[in-house]
Amino acid sequence: KKLPVDTSEELGPRRVEGACFSRVKPQPLAKPRFVAVSSSALALLGLNAEEVVNDPLGPEYLSGSKVMPGSEPAAHCYCGHQFGSFAGQLGDGAACYLGEVKAPPDQNPELLRENPSGRWEIQVKGAGLTPYSRQADGRKVLRSSIREFLCSEAVFALGVPTTRAGSLVTSDSKVIRDVYYSGNPRQERCSVVLRIAPSFIRFGSFEIFKAADENTGRQGPSYGHDEIRGQLMDYVIETFYPEIQQNYVDRMERNVAFFREVVRRTALLVAQWQCVGFCHGVLNTDNMSILGLTLDYGPYGFMDRFDPDFICNASDNTGRYSYQAQPAVCRWNLARLAEALDPELPPNQAEAVLDEYLPLYNTFYMGNMRRKLGLLRKEEPEDEMLITELLQTMHNTGADFTNTFRCLSQIPCPSGGEEQAEEGVIRMATDLLLEQCASLEELRSANRPNMDPRELAMLLQLGQSNPSLFQMITSRRSLAMQMEKLARLKELLDADEEEVKARHREDWAAWIKSYRKRLAVELEGQSDIQELQEERVKVMETTNPRYVLRNYIAQNAIEAAENGDFTEVQQVLKVLEKPFTHQPGLEQPRWLGPGRTDEQWERD
Ligand code: AMP
Ligand code: MG
Ligand code: MG
Repeated sequence: KKLPVDTSEELGPRRVEGACFSRVKPQPLAKPRFVAVSSSALALLGLNAEEVVNDPLGPEYLSGSKVMPGSEPAAHCYCGHQFGSFAGQLGDGAACYLGEVKAPPDQNPELLRENPSGRWEIQVKGAGLTPYSRQADGRKVLRSSIREFLCSEAVFALGVPTTRAGSLVTSDSKVIRDVYYSGNPRQERCSVVLRIAPSFIRFGSFEIFKAADENTGRQGPSYGHDEIRGQLMDYVIETFYPEIQQNYVDRMERNVAFFREVVRRTALLVAQWQCVGFCHGVLNTDNMSILGLTLDYGPYGFMDRFDPDFICNASDNTGRYSYQAQPAVCRWNLARLAEALDPELPPNQAEAVLDEYLPLYNTFYMGNMRRKLGLLRKEEPEDEMLITELLQTMHNTGADFTNTFRCLSQIPCPSGGEEQAEEGVIRMATDLLLEQCASLEELRSANRPNMDPRELAMLLQLGQSNPSLFQMITSRRSLAMQMEKLARLKELLDADEEEVKARHREDWAAWIKSYRKRLAVELEGQSDIQELQEERVKVMETTNPRYVLRNYIAQNAIEAAENGDFTEVQQVLKVLEKPFTHQPGLEQPRWLGPGRTDEQWERD
């Protein structure tokens, strides 16, 4: 990279000023061996997976234990806003840049269109201490590496922009971790994921130029190094946004166009996450890719039963990074990026571009949702309501997000038959959807396990009479949100099983009726209903995945691997490489969920 490098020999944690990278040396692992490799990701580098796996030096090189000739390993310096506050210097504390590999000449042109640099940056994550390791050791363990490896490839297969994972290596080197902060630390195996992307530069990479923060007093380590900001922008735009570089003579206009494209890609990315029920979990600015890729798989989660307040990060006690907060929090992150680009990006122009974000997001989201519902011919104003009501019904009935959407293609277009036939279809479809829903008991436990009814009554009363005390003893999440949840739980605890069942049936029947009405609009003016129906099913079945990386699927693979059996990781990868294809033999409950409501969520 043509960017300033800090060449100090000192490896330990320190402040690095006036540089985008520090020279480092990845630390070798004891007896590195492969857990799994991704053939399609390795092919990006011109590597054949089989050859790599059969080469005794494969795990050595792909884990950074041995370094290829010509490679100049480095750790990237970045900052970030973590949970809303400027955290100062962060940087690659565990990841190590090994260099860039030229894409092989026979590479899929589609991939190169998305990566105009024609090169792939490779990183080993978990390769040991760097100047940015702070109090940690720069290592990653098997569980977090399996999660990063599997999800990178699963998200790619879903068609969502992401960094890739080429291989997963584990070893006999050990570090001590306290898995669930339980006070029972144990030894775990050091493991390394080979990450691949056009670039790992992030919003936080530009925050190293930030002036002192008014809240935390922290300052980016390269504050005042304005020429480096210009260099970094030039590098990113010339290399990854060459069309923008070519189309603008005026530097400011170029920079605005660049920011607009980052805004557009981010809006598109979040819309795609929302549509597959993916929650990133740690949307700090240092985890926001400047290329609009999903970046840093830590405590992420795919939702099972739909809940807009879904939180997958155990340390997120305010719900800042909940599922429904993702679109808005990414806009907030874009605003921090705009600040970091000032004065290269005039603030008033940045503001105008930021105003495009929400409408753009909405267009992408609605476009994607219409495909998920198989609404291909028309755009109707009531579509938003239809989708809102679907999600509301899913939430009320505890429906599995992935499975519900997958079911919708089994509801046929109306064929203009009699009323009786229509009723039959609605009954059939209602039964089908109810199968994805929760029982009253499951709903109760999903909403708050182990809550005593008397405690609940007391909390509800306290929330009304003394809101500030209520928040002190509960959490910092908004009062309204908590009260709504408690009221919902009370309703569930008071409810009668049969009544609830009947209500769920009514709710679904009502929604399916509206859906069928909307499908009838699709048919207007269509001569070949059969053709439309076939096209509809095809689009829906390539938009609504059958398999996603549910938490318990990852957990099963982790458990097996920790016991020395890597075949489960390999099989999960294989299944998730074709998430839209029905794969016979993969039935409930191992692959199709939903997961249990009381399961343990992994921590990074
Ligand atoms: P994250 O929350 O994963 O985005 O990480 C925040 C910061 O902590 C980044 O600077 C990471 O490089 C650093 N970090 C995460 N895990 C480790 C680790 N095991 N050792 C050293 N630094 C780490
Ligand atoms: Mg990170
Ligand atoms: Mg992380």
